[in-house]
Amino acid sequence: MSYEEIVRERPYLKDILELYHKLERLDELKVSLPQDMFNHELWVEEKEAHEITSLVGRAFGLDEEDVHLLSKEVCEGRVPLREIPLRIPEMPALPFEREELEVILFLIARPYLRAEKERMNIDGIFWAEGRCPVCNGAPVLSFLEKEEKRRFLCSYCGTMGPWRRTGCPFCGSDTPEETSIITTEKEKGMKIYSCNACKSYLKGFELELLAEHSPWILDLLSLPLDVIAQEKGFKRHAPNPLGMIKIS
Ligand SMILES: [Zn+2]
Ligand SMILES: [Zn+2]
Repeated sequence: MSYEEIVRERPYLKDILELYHKLERLDELKVSLPQDMFNHELWVEEKEAHEITSLVGRAFGLDEEDVHLLSKEVCEGRVPLREIPLRIPEMPALPFEREELEVILFLIARPYLRAEKERMNIDGIFWAEGRCPVCNGAPVLSFLEKEEKRRFLCSYCGTMGPWRRTGCPFCGSDTPEETSIITTEKEKGMKIYSCNACKSYLKGFELELLAEHSPWILDLLSLPLDVIAQEKGFKRHAPNPLGMIKIS
């Protein structure tokens, strides 16, 4: 399904999809990683960092000087790219508001985390801690196959792996009464599983939906479900492909 067709069916997603379209090139970028995978100070290729930061800068209409500064911080290893799935650092050298910084750093870290995923190649491994085994990202997207465990997909690096079929990965609660399901008429095969014990939520998609859309588009198509869940006070733990956690 093309963007135009999606927007025809869901006019409320027009701006969102236009922004995603501008950022889509980021999903295709292949970057190189230095050999030492446990060193948190990741010095990256200048050309690649420049391409990534320029892309993000253009999509959000950032000031060119600010983008240049950002690129320099990334190149010289002052942005702890591997820590971003756990926490977004303070970056006093950068002229961005906290919320803007969170979006920008998520988008910049993604190509590097994806490269790490390619290198480690552990798709299909059980998410023992309820977090991504490659980058420690918290889950949001889950895919369900009949008679099988559900699988989580990492919004940061794209690793996919199984977890228990029921229960909450954030607080460990496995009491069925604690889980509520939210669906809408319009989005078939998409659900929210919210946990009343810790006020978190996951999205659940039927696996067949991947035949038609990428998981990142599915995350955006189901945005109305985020709105409902968040209005009810439930928290999303990892950003969507536009870097948004709080949808309002
Ligand atoms: Zn990950
Ligand atoms: Zn919970």
